[in-house]
Amino acid sequence: MDFNKAAQQHAEMENFFSGGFAAKDPQIARKKIERDKRAEQAKNELEKLNQEVNSCRKCELGGQRTNDVPGEGHPAARIMFIGEAPGADEDAQGRPFVGRAGKLLDKIIAAMGLKREDVFIGNILKCRPPENRDPKAEEVFSCLPYLQRQIEIIQPDIIVALGAHAARTLLENTKSIGQLRGHIHEYYPGLGRPAIRLLATYHPAYLLRSYTHENRLRVWEDMKKVLAELDLPVPE
Ligand code: SF4
Repeated sequence: MDFNKAAQQHAEMENFFSGGFAAKDPQIARKKIERDKRAEQAKNELEKLNQEVNSCRKCELGGQRTNDVPGEGHPAARIMFIGEAPGADEDAQGRPFVGRAGKLLDKIIAAMGLKREDVFIGNILKCRPPENRDPKAEEVFSCLPYLQRQIEIIQPDIIVALGAHAARTLLENTKSIGQLRGHIHEYYPGLGRPAIRLLATYHPAYLLRSYTHENRLRVWEDMKKVLAELDLPVPE
């Protein structure tokens, strides 16, 4: 069977089982087939990386954590949500975004018509800074290569940087979240590799602290941009 025909059939099947939500475009369906093929190998590579993180003591946080929090989700996700660092709930469970801010992120993902397991969720730091203090420059320097490798393995179509720390670190600038959010930027994964789109938005923890209609609307507008960038429909 030729590849385009297979992609078309796949699109029709997905459309049938999802009640019309899935992409009808054969190009998108073909990319999905390619991602599904890549996912198994990516899963193995991420598991190896998780083991490295698990034994990592490159910075002082390694000796202070309860659990490392390498991140989780689809190994070939189209969207990566990246925050700053694990908090108390994440440290206790070894999973990213599982506290109150995580529950809000789950709601945002659901509002996008997606499930948590469709995306990848992680942080710049893989261990919790005590008392949730800001990450130190040397901690970011030590830990960032793990995230860079995750991005290399997952090959997302877009990165959503949650909050100023994640956005500044990935974009290598010092602008405020007010200046950065709502725009599509480019993240450069390294020499010879294509840039990846990056959208910065408010961290869910900030949104919880400033739970105004205006801020929620801004985040929703940001997520609609992400969906538009990925040619995905905005749920009614
Ligand atoms: S924060 Fe990162 S670099 Fe520091 S110990 Fe944990 S995994 Fe290693």
